[in-house]
Amino acid sequence: MELENRETSNVLGYTEYSAPPRPIPPVVCKCGCGHSFQPRRKDQIYLNKQHADFGYNHNKRMLKNWRRKKAEKILSHNDNILKKYFKAYRQGDFATCFLKALKEDGFDSGSFVGVDEPGGKTHHYLYNYYYHISVKHNETIIKIYKR
Ligand SMILES: [Zn+2]
Repeated sequence: MELENRETSNVLGYTEYSAPPRPIPPVVCKCGCGHSFQPRRKDQIYLNKQHADFGYNHNKRMLKNWRRKKAEKILSHNDNILKKYFKAYRQGDFATCFLKALKEDGFDSGSFVGVDEPGGKTHHYLYNYYYHISVKHNETIIKIYKR
Protein backbone atom coordinates (compact mmCIF):
# COMPACT_ATOMS: atom_id res chain seq x y z
CA MET A 1 0.00 0.00 0.00
CA GLU A 2 2.78 2.36 1.01
CA LEU A 3 4.74 1.46 -2.05
CA GLU A 4 1.79 2.06 -4.26
CA ASN A 5 1.37 5.62 -2.88
CA ARG A 6 5.01 6.44 -3.55
CA GLU A 7 4.75 5.12 -7.03
CA THR A 8 1.67 7.20 -7.68
CA SER A 9 3.39 10.40 -6.50
CA ASN A 10 6.42 9.53 -8.59
CA VAL A 11 4.25 9.02 -11.59
CA LEU A 12 2.54 12.35 -11.01
CA GLY A 13 5.88 14.12 -10.55
CA TYR A 14 7.24 12.53 -13.68
CA THR A 15 4.16 13.61 -15.63
CA GLU A 16 4.55 17.22 -14.47
CA TYR A 17 8.22 17.44 -15.44
CA SER A 18 7.80 15.83 -18.80
CA ALA A 19 4.69 17.81 -19.75
CA PRO A 20 5.42 19.14 -23.25
CA PRO A 21 5.71 22.93 -23.54
CA ARG A 22 2.49 24.55 -24.65
CA PRO A 23 2.56 24.37 -28.41
CA ILE A 24 2.73 27.70 -30.23
CA PRO A 25 -0.56 28.14 -32.07
CA PRO A 26 -0.42 28.52 -35.84
CA VAL A 27 -0.49 32.10 -37.06
CA VAL A 28 -1.43 33.88 -40.27
CA CYS A 29 1.61 35.32 -42.08
CA LYS A 30 1.77 39.07 -41.55
CA CYS A 31 2.79 39.88 -45.14
CA GLY A 32 -0.81 39.68 -46.29
CA CYS A 33 -0.46 36.46 -48.35
CA GLY A 34 -3.10 34.72 -46.23
CA HIS A 35 -0.90 31.65 -45.46
CA SER A 36 -1.31 30.07 -42.05
CA PHE A 37 1.79 28.42 -40.64
CA GLN A 38 3.25 26.86 -37.51
CA PRO A 39 5.85 29.30 -36.11
CA ARG A 40 9.07 27.84 -34.72
CA ARG A 41 9.46 30.73 -32.31
CA LYS A 42 6.81 32.84 -30.60
CA ASP A 43 8.04 36.01 -32.32
CA GLN A 44 8.00 34.55 -35.83
CA ILE A 45 5.38 36.56 -37.71
CA TYR A 46 6.34 35.75 -41.31
CA LEU A 47 6.37 32.37 -43.05
CA ASN A 48 9.98 32.88 -44.23
CA LYS A 49 12.44 35.54 -45.35
CA GLN A 50 10.77 36.17 -48.71
CA HIS A 51 7.49 36.84 -46.96
CA ALA A 52 9.26 39.03 -44.41
CA ASP A 53 10.86 41.14 -47.18
CA PHE A 54 7.59 41.43 -49.03
CA GLY A 55 5.76 42.34 -45.83
CA TYR A 56 8.31 45.00 -44.95
CA ASN A 57 8.11 46.68 -48.36
CA HIS A 58 4.36 46.32 -48.47
CA ASN A 59 3.96 47.97 -45.07
CA LYS A 60 6.28 50.80 -46.12
CA ARG A 61 4.14 51.31 -49.20
CA MET A 62 0.96 51.23 -47.11
CA LEU A 63 2.41 53.86 -44.80
CA LYS A 64 3.34 56.05 -47.76
CA ASN A 65 -0.17 55.71 -49.19
CA TRP A 66 -1.64 56.42 -45.80
CA ARG A 67 0.38 59.67 -45.54
CA ARG A 68 -0.67 60.72 -49.03
CA LYS A 69 -4.33 59.98 -48.32
CA LYS A 70 -4.13 61.91 -45.07
CA ALA A 71 -2.57 64.93 -46.83
CA GLU A 72 -5.21 64.81 -49.57
CA LYS A 73 -7.94 64.67 -46.96
CA ILE A 74 -6.62 67.84 -45.29
CA LEU A 75 -6.38 69.63 -48.66
CA SER A 76 -9.90 68.74 -49.74
CA HIS A 77 -11.22 69.65 -46.30
CA ASN A 78 -9.49 73.03 -46.61
CA ASP A 79 -10.99 73.51 -50.07
CA ASN A 80 -14.48 72.70 -48.76
CA ILE A 81 -14.11 75.21 -45.94
CA LEU A 82 -13.03 77.90 -48.43
CA LYS A 83 -16.07 77.04 -50.56
CA LYS A 84 -18.41 77.33 -47.59
CA TYR A 85 -17.08 80.77 -46.56
CA PHE A 86 -16.79 82.00 -50.13
CA LYS A 87 -20.47 81.21 -50.74
CA ALA A 88 -21.61 82.65 -47.40
CA TYR A 89 -19.63 85.91 -47.46
CA ARG A 90 -19.01 86.60 -51.12
CA GLN A 91 -19.01 90.27 -52.17
CA GLY A 92 -18.10 90.58 -55.80
CA ASP A 93 -15.10 88.43 -56.70
CA PHE A 94 -14.06 87.48 -53.20
CA ALA A 95 -15.21 86.86 -49.66
CA THR A 96 -13.59 88.46 -46.61
CA CYS A 97 -13.63 86.53 -43.33
CA PHE A 98 -11.80 86.10 -40.05
CA LEU A 99 -9.24 83.32 -40.30
CA LYS A 100 -10.10 82.11 -36.81
CA ALA A 101 -13.65 81.29 -37.93
CA LEU A 102 -12.24 79.00 -40.63
CA LYS A 103 -9.78 77.51 -38.16
CA GLU A 104 -12.65 76.64 -35.86
CA ASP A 105 -14.01 74.59 -38.77
CA GLY A 106 -10.69 72.76 -39.00
CA PHE A 107 -9.00 74.87 -41.67
CA ASP A 108 -5.25 74.17 -41.78
CA SER A 109 -3.57 77.29 -43.17
CA GLY A 110 -0.29 75.37 -43.49
CA SER A 111 -1.71 72.99 -46.12
CA PHE A 112 -2.18 74.16 -49.69
CA VAL A 113 -1.27 72.94 -53.17
CA GLY A 114 0.53 76.01 -54.46
CA VAL A 115 1.63 79.53 -53.74
CA ASP A 116 1.97 82.59 -55.96
CA GLU A 117 2.95 86.22 -55.38
CA PRO A 118 1.29 88.45 -57.95
CA GLY A 119 2.33 92.04 -57.17
CA GLY A 120 3.89 90.97 -53.88
CA LYS A 121 0.60 89.63 -52.54
CA THR A 122 0.87 86.02 -51.43
CA HIS A 123 -1.84 83.74 -52.75
CA HIS A 124 -2.19 80.23 -51.37
CA TYR A 125 -3.96 77.81 -53.67
CA LEU A 126 -6.26 74.91 -52.91
CA TYR A 127 -8.07 72.88 -55.57
CA ASN A 128 -10.89 75.27 -56.46
CA TYR A 129 -10.18 78.31 -54.31
CA TYR A 130 -7.26 80.42 -53.25
CA TYR A 131 -6.74 82.87 -50.43
CA HIS A 132 -4.74 85.79 -49.19
CA ILE A 133 -4.07 86.39 -45.52
CA SER A 134 -3.51 89.81 -43.96
CA VAL A 135 -3.66 91.34 -40.50
CA LYS A 136 -5.95 94.30 -39.88
CA HIS A 137 -6.56 95.81 -36.42
CA ASN A 138 -4.98 92.77 -34.78
CA GLU A 139 -7.35 90.41 -36.57
CA THR A 140 -6.17 87.94 -39.15
CA ILE A 141 -8.28 88.38 -42.26
CA ILE A 142 -8.60 85.86 -45.04
CA LYS A 143 -9.73 86.87 -48.51
CA ILE A 144 -11.11 83.95 -50.49
CA TYR A 145 -11.25 83.81 -54.28
CA LYS A 146 -12.56 81.21 -56.69
CA ARG A 147 -9.99 79.88 -59.17
ZN1 LIG B 1 3.31 35.71 -46.32
